[in-house]
Amino acid sequence: MPTSSLRTQSATPMIIAMDGPAGSGKSTTARCLAERLKLPYLDTGAMYRSVTLVAMEQKVPFTDQKKLARIAAELPLRFGALKDGKQKVWIGERDVTADIRTPELTANVHHAASSPAVRKELVNLQRRVAQIDGGVIEGRDIGTVVFPKTPYKFYLDADVRLRARRRYNELLAAGVKADYEAVLKDQKIRDHRDSTRKVAPLKPAKDAILLDTTELTIPATADKIQDLILKIRPRRPAKSAKKGRRSA
Ligand code: C5P
Repeated sequence: MPTSSLRTQSATPMIIAMDGPAGSGKSTTARCLAERLKLPYLDTGAMYRSVTLVAMEQKVPFTDQKKLARIAAELPLRFGALKDGKQKVWIGERDVTADIRTPELTANVHHAASSPAVRKELVNLQRRVAQIDGGVIEGRDIGTVVFPKTPYKFYLDADVRLRARRRYNELLAAGVKADYEAVLKDQKIRDHRDSTRKVAPLKPAKDAILLDTTELTIPATADKIQDLILKIRPRRPAKSAKKGRRSA
C-alpha cells in the first residue's frame, strides 16, 4: 500500500478519527495506521487517564469540577514517539505509562470523562495538537465532537465478550492479576457509562464508517481502513461567492 498517496490526498493536515469502545481494537489499529502512514498518533484516553491520576494523587474530590478542570488545563502531558506500536506517556518528567492503566484508575476515569469542564480543556488541547500535522486520533468523541469535519471517520466495535477477552489478555501480558468474568463486568459498566453520559457520549458520527473487528486481526483492520481512506474524497473548502475575494 503506497502510504504517500494516502497522505497527499488532502492539502490540509489529514485527521483520521478512530472511535469505539474499549477492546474494539481501535488503539492498536490506530497506532499501526499512524506508523504506516507516518502520521502522529494521539491517544485521547491517556489524557482523561492522566487527569484522573493527578486528581487521585492530589486527593482532589471527583465532584470538584473547578479543580479537575484546572488539572486538565495545566497538565504538562508529553507523549513519546511511537515505536513498535508502543508509546510512552509523561506528566512533566515522570513516566506515567503504567500508572495511568491500573484497574483502580480505569474504574475512576469516568469522573473526568463525564465532566464538561474537563472535556472542554482536553478537546481544546486535542485540536491544538492535531491541527499542526494532523494525525490518527483515537477516543470516543473524535468524529462527533473533536473533529466532526474530517471525512476520515471510523468507528470500531466488536462483540463484548471478545473485547473483554482482549483486555484480559492485555492485563495478563502486563503482569496484572485478572479474572475474566470481572473484566467482562467492568467492560459492560464502562460501555454503559461511556455511551449514556450526557456530554460527548460514545456513539458513531452519522457519517462514520462502522467496522466490526470481531473476526478481524489488527493488520487486516488497518488494511481495510487504508483501502477505505483511498476511496474517501477529502472535502474541499467551498469557494467564496463574492467576486474578487481572495485569500493572501
Ligand atoms: O481509550 P481508553 O480506554 O484509554 O479511555 C479511558 C476512558 O477515557 C474511557 O473509558 C472514556 O471514559 C474516556 N474517554 C473519553 N473520551 C475520549 C477518550 C477517552 O471519554 N475521547
